[in-house]
Amino acid sequence: MSDTYDIVVLGGGPGGYATALRAAGHGLRVALVEADRVGGTCLHRGCIPSKALLHVAHLADTVPQLVEFGLAVAAPGVDVVTAGQFRDRVVDHLHRGLGGLLASRSITVIEGWGRIVEPGIVAVTDGDGDGDGDGDGETRTLQAPHLVVATGSAPIDLPDVTPDGERILRSDDALRLERIPQSVVVVGGGSIGVEFASLWRSLGSEVTLLEIADRLLPLEDPDSSKALTRAFAKRGIGVRVSTGLAGASSTEGEVVVETSDGGTITVDQMLVAVGRRPATAGLGLEALGVLSDRGHIVADAFGHTSVDGLWAVGDVLPTLALAHAAFAEGFVVADVIAGLDPDPVEHRLVPRVTYCSPEVASVGLTEPQARELHGDQIAVTTFPLAGNARAMIEGGTGQVKLVCAKDGTLLGGHIVGPSATELIGELGLATSWEALAAEVGAVVHAHPTLSEGLREAALAAAGSPFHAHT
Ligand code: FAD
Repeated sequence: MSDTYDIVVLGGGPGGYATALRAAGHGLRVALVEADRVGGTCLHRGCIPSKALLHVAHLADTVPQLVEFGLAVAAPGVDVVTAGQFRDRVVDHLHRGLGGLLASRSITVIEGWGRIVEPGIVAVTDGDGDGDGDGDGETRTLQAPHLVVATGSAPIDLPDVTPDGERILRSDDALRLERIPQSVVVVGGGSIGVEFASLWRSLGSEVTLLEIADRLLPLEDPDSSKALTRAFAKRGIGVRVSTGLAGASSTEGEVVVETSDGGTITVDQMLVAVGRRPATAGLGLEALGVLSDRGHIVADAFGHTSVDGLWAVGDVLPTLALAHAAFAEGFVVADVIAGLDPDPVEHRLVPRVTYCSPEVASVGLTEPQARELHGDQIAVTTFPLAGNARAMIEGGTGQVKLVCAKDGTLLGGHIVGPSATELIGELGLATSWEALAAEVGAVVHAHPTLSEGLREAALAAAGSPFHAHT
């Protein structure tokens, strides 16, 4: 049996389904091949379940503070079963919604493992290995002039450390939250590691966070790393930078973690969160010569590989491994295939978001990046949210840092604090429109809001601070 489409998309995560929805919107016939569940890592093992649990963690953090506001409540007890049901309700609801959306756009969703036989031809085998994805035992062959690879990524394992899902965990295991560890070592201070460190601390675990680089969130501005490290120390999270994992052994009762500085830590569980690798093996891509040494797909700024009609989006590319980057890349690929003339994704302007407590978010250039590009022709302003009324009311603090060119053009924005991942949208807009700090400062922001912190920072950057000290 062979089916012909305008586009076959391999992988139904954010990159794949965004490509499919956009292409269908352009009137193209689309098949979306998914080996597991549409929604991908983001919906089932990433963004959504982790943010649902972090919301529970955030609520747990507020309970001990309630007495300060005159609200008497008992000390929080965390019921992981109920918290897990909440997480699953959110995921299931979104999964059903996505299925309905794909159907409403007449996208053919084919369940099964897809493999490129040759450019333009994909073979699909269903999950139990007996056929074509619809259970009838036949191999299904799909043909299309355009194949889009969106097979995502998987956690990287460390040599000699074998996750067992019980004591030594990957992020997929940790998200199941079958119990709250009494003590835990998180290996890796990138976004995923700091989110889990934050989550477990809020739920009552003793947390040690190891990061081999000299700071947490090494992709963020160094001042954001500093602010987060300070905040984590206050929360009782043991942050150990410039420290890697030398080894780990688990027994039924504990994990003994050996650190690169010769120490050992004995804990209940350990999470390995040292990054993700592109899921590109076994898809037929090796033969096409489109893979880099690290397994990423090599493509141009529009997602096109060196093979005619072969495209890639999302975590298989060496761009930022974020769902919204994958959405954006999917839109560009679908638009080009449809004959439009889109701009490529400007990766510098993809917001970077980490939902720990306090949240960290940024867009555009960090200060060191700006200095490298523009030398001393930049101006840097930091507004502490301690001076923001809404932050004070809500018990949060943090900072907004703006990096501007000498003429005031915004080059980058960096926020640490409550709702940073929401607030970054405004700085994304301003930075991508190359707004001047003075223009952002001239926009009236509602009072009292956290977003006033952005305006205050912009006013200070423009040389006319309002509540900031001069
Ligand atoms: P994926 O989402 O990985 O989807 C790939 C899909 O392809 C999967 O469904 C897989 O089953 C399928 N597939 C693979 N091979 C085949 C094949 N041969 N045939 C058919 N199907 C196949 N990003 C954010 O932006 N915000 C966040 O808050 C955030 N939090 C995260 C938290 C965690 C714990 C993790 C692990 C990730 C998080 N991410 C977050 C990253 C985000 O999940 C990824 O960047 C995003 O899912 C990438 O989308 P994708 O479409 O490239 O790949």
